[in-house]
Amino acid sequence: MALTQDALLDMFRRSGGLLEGHFRLSSGLHSPGYLQSALVLQHPDKAEALGAALADKVRGLRPTLVLSPALGGIVIGQEVGRALGIRAIFAERQEGVMTLRRGFTISENDRVLVVEDVLTTGGSTRETMQVARAAGGTAALEVPFSALLEMSLPTYEPARCPLCASGLAVVKPGSRPTQAR
Ligand SMILES: [Zn+2]
Repeated sequence: MALTQDALLDMFRRSGGLLEGHFRLSSGLHSPGYLQSALVLQHPDKAEALGAALADKVRGLRPTLVLSPALGGIVIGQEVGRALGIRAIFAERQEGVMTLRRGFTISENDRVLVVEDVLTTGGSTRETMQVARAAGGTAALEVPFSALLEMSLPTYEPARCPLCASGLAVVKPGSRPTQAR
């Protein structure tokens, strides 16, 4: 199933997952926009469709295992694994370091597909790739990369952020007062 960029953006908008304002990203950078993919992925039919679309883009890589960073990557990783008919496991931080827990294993023969929901600087994605390599996989310097949607949202160092300069309060996505649980 092919999902156009427009259809995907529309899916985010209608789920309330395309946020506009002043956000502190997990990378520490500030941005006027943010994709809160959990608001799309909370709908299992949409999650399944996104997983299938992503799986179609990477099937040719012949992965044998999906590895996602917790928590953001777990749902989409599960759906990609479902679409490809392969295991889907996740890495999580233990004392700040991405680690495999819960008895999850990666064998030396596994072709590991790292699946993430949203990628900004790619920092946590690279950490997750390290988990796969540490488990025995041979490290490739360059790996294929696929995304369903690419957006050019500006990001700013806090010290140079025009939104900060304008006095607008910065919020960490997921902890917005309007979304308090
Ligand atoms: Zn700012």
